[in-house]
Amino acid sequence: MLEVRDVSVSFRAVSGDALPVLDGVSLDVADGEIVGLLGPSGSGKSTLLRVIAGLVRPDTGRIVIDGDDVTDRPTHRRSVGMVFQDEQLFPHLDVGRNVEFGLRMSGAHAAARRQRADELLGLVGLDGFARRSVGRLSGGEAKRVALVRSLAPEPKVLLLDEPLSGLDRDLHALIGGEIAAALRSTHTTAVWVTHDITEADAIADRVLLLGDL
Ligand code: ADP
Ligand code: MG
Repeated sequence: MLEVRDVSVSFRAVSGDALPVLDGVSLDVADGEIVGLLGPSGSGKSTLLRVIAGLVRPDTGRIVIDGDDVTDRPTHRRSVGMVFQDEQLFPHLDVGRNVEFGLRMSGAHAAARRQRADELLGLVGLDGFARRSVGRLSGGEAKRVALVRSLAPEPKVLLLDEPLSGLDRDLHALIGGEIAAALRSTHTTAVWVTHDITEADAIADRVLLLGDL
């Protein structure tokens, strides 16, 4: 479903020198597979996700999604979803409208959107949360809302960038398990970035390492 071919990225350092961050990175993710991407801070994990999403242009290399070379396509034409470290929920929209946001772009009718949002919220144990204010959610609830908002438009590939960060240690396993179960029940192809090997082992079908541990 996802092929990353020989991707290299360097940023320009203050000195003007090129600072290589990714050097010929390749990986494949099968349809419905969850790959854990592990690496220390600064190893280029977020940069790689941003290249896959079309937010950073690689110096060399190609990105192929479901057989289409999307390297030259803008983000909104890649069928890629992204879950960030901080949930980035829309504070002025309630939970249901946050989840519906991606569907509104797809032109689905209001009733269909609402039903889909309710279904997705139920998938992560948030039945009845649609009319709640996002400001009143607990950390774990906000993480699950961010996940289902990204799942709603049914992206071919979902990218999760340290989606459990900020949660208490004892919530990690619980929320991580719920998110992984939602990905599996929707047969979502995913790349899950973390710097925590226990988390990667628990949620992923396969773990890839970026840089030296
Ligand atoms: P990780 O997510 O693994 O912690 P990042 O991909 O965020 O790593 O960053 C990798 C390296 O690239 C870091 O040294 C970071 O400072 C640098 N970097 C990331 N984005 C930029 C940018 N837009 N401009 C310059 N340097 C960047
Ligand atoms: Mg990062």
